[in-house]
Amino acid sequence: MTSMATTSAPAATNPFLIGHGLPPFDQLQPEQVEPAITQLIADLTAALDSLEQTMTPTWQGLAEPLTKISERLDWTWGVLGHLMGVKNSPELRTAYEAVQPALVQFATRLSQSRAFYNGFKQLAKEPSLSPAQQRIVDAAVRDAELSGVGLDGEAKDQFNQIQQQLAELSTQFSNHVLDATKAFSLVLTTPDDIVGLPPSLLSLAAQNARDAGEETATADAGPWRITLDIPCYGPFLKHSRRRDLRAQLYRAYVSRASSGELDNSPLIDKTLSLRKQQANLLGFDTYADLSVARKMAPSVEAVETLMEELRSASYESAVKELSDLKAFAQAQKAPEADDLKQWDIPFWAESMRETEFDLNDEELRPYFPLPRVLNGLFELASRLFGVTITAADGQAPVWHPDVRYFVIADASDQPIAYFYLDPYSRPAEKRGGAWMDECIVRAHTEPGSVRLPVAYLVCNQSPPVDGKPSLMTFREVETLFHEFGHGLQHMLTQVDYPGAAGINNVEWDAVELQSQFLENWCYDRSTLFKMARHYKTDEPLPEADYQKLLAARNFMTGNAILRQVNFGWLDIELHSRYQPDGAETIWHVRDRLAQKTTVRPPLAEDAFLCSFGHIFAGGYAAGYYSYFWAEVLSADAFAAFEEVGIENEAAVQATGKRFRDTVLALGGSKHPMEVFQAFRGREPSTEALLKHRGLKAA
Ligand code: ZN
Repeated sequence: MTSMATTSAPAATNPFLIGHGLPPFDQLQPEQVEPAITQLIADLTAALDSLEQTMTPTWQGLAEPLTKISERLDWTWGVLGHLMGVKNSPELRTAYEAVQPALVQFATRLSQSRAFYNGFKQLAKEPSLSPAQQRIVDAAVRDAELSGVGLDGEAKDQFNQIQQQLAELSTQFSNHVLDATKAFSLVLTTPDDIVGLPPSLLSLAAQNARDAGEETATADAGPWRITLDIPCYGPFLKHSRRRDLRAQLYRAYVSRASSGELDNSPLIDKTLSLRKQQANLLGFDTYADLSVARKMAPSVEAVETLMEELRSASYESAVKELSDLKAFAQAQKAPEADDLKQWDIPFWAESMRETEFDLNDEELRPYFPLPRVLNGLFELASRLFGVTITAADGQAPVWHPDVRYFVIADASDQPIAYFYLDPYSRPAEKRGGAWMDECIVRAHTEPGSVRLPVAYLVCNQSPPVDGKPSLMTFREVETLFHEFGHGLQHMLTQVDYPGAAGINNVEWDAVELQSQFLENWCYDRSTLFKMARHYKTDEPLPEADYQKLLAARNFMTGNAILRQVNFGWLDIELHSRYQPDGAETIWHVRDRLAQKTTVRPPLAEDAFLCSFGHIFAGGYAAGYYSYFWAEVLSADAFAAFEEVGIENEAAVQATGKRFRDTVLALGGSKHPMEVFQAFRGREPSTEALLKHRGLKAA
């Protein structure tokens, strides 16, 4: 544990001020937030002032004490941010909004310290730094420059004001999406309303109804409350035979947060305009240039080149897939076949997939109960990386009774990391999507002692209903593997400097390597059969179903890639060529790009940008392309296992060890290109991605 000499306060009684170790989730209350942050900022400001006076441009004289200060801040801010994501409430939100300006101001003060900047610039020339230390110091210099350390007077004030405004805009954006999602529901009451809906969705919808006060709602008799939350919205669109209801739900989904009090479109323009000003102040032409300056991609052009490569590789397939879909709907004598709308595509695609591959997402659920899936995942981690994972529930306070706690041990049975798992969707208080976050970062503390990393793994999968375990769709299984992949990079790091341990100091467009890499294993025979067993009978998944999963893997892949390229390109375009005060609106840009990146133009009322939290309320601004940038890396990394023979245990283990020692261990201590080359022995190529996606013969 860190020992702090920087605070003069008595032993903290406010649990938000503990500053180290596992957060006491059983004690944290919204009303503690404001007093805690006020005191924390006062303490840390005093500590910063004093360090600026006393620091020497050495590792021990600057990097170490500064890390201690920022870790105090990160601990409290991290806990607060985590609760905002998993235990949101009006009280917490008010408290968060009240303290956010002061927190941002402090972070700005920290990142713009001339004394530290000059110190780091001097330290960067110090020949005795290790390569990891060198990268941390270089990043500190670069980040300070990108945070406006070089600005003076008016420019500096303007820059800081922008930072503040952007933080508020991002919070507002995200709250609007959450509120708009919550505000809509479709209550179904008659058998006619629910035609086509699978039992799991009916159970969930009845549970939603009970949560909303319909105490007597049941899966069989209703009423059923359909929401825009993904576990509900996704299956509804795929299965409902009621075209009118699909249309209603689809329109509600794509127009979330686009009108009335929750309208995000003015926020988008304001955000884009402020980001551009910010980039200009730092000497960049556009925000996209600023964003790419900290990434693995060498330039915006390099990103556009990759997008064009993927676009041209997938476009023809996408066109053909949609015409096949139309032919399929025609053969089924669907009245809408000649004019398939956006709300028809998921339905007919699912129907065609079921027919062609005789595969139904819902029928596979009983083979993927969460406890078995976890066993399979943990066995894979053991097979590839030689670690053992066991339940450690009760060893850490949790924020909800469904949250689990686990320990990871190495070959000699020594704990090396821990993680929380919060698996289920809780629309009323939990943000949608899935993510991994840091709770505690690995660090060298005293000689010979290491602080072990702890991760948060958060998913939004189908909750257990009617006394059954959580029965997962295959997609939910992939999502869990994905987040666990992020978690492994955080937890299996061997870097002992928090500034470069795990995901820290890793270029943003490289961070999806580990996660997407792990997803590939869901299709690996031995991995899949260890976890896919019927929750009641323990029967393994039938071989025929496995073959169907493999065959269906690249179903409509051209459309899937094109969709990602569309999002990625739109993001880059809005952050580069788009002029927020010009004649073109964001909707014009959407339509312009749709001409080359979509087969069907978006509906006029399609306002998905208003809920595109990745780029307006997350960290993906001018960085959404990172998903496929990293997929090039992850596909190529997985190909290393295929090349040695995925059934060849010895070779797989040797390759797994090399992966652990490089890609999982090195964190941000080396440039991702160097890390990749250390594992693969060469630079990455797009070959494997195109093969895996079925766009190039294997
Ligand atoms: Zn991810």
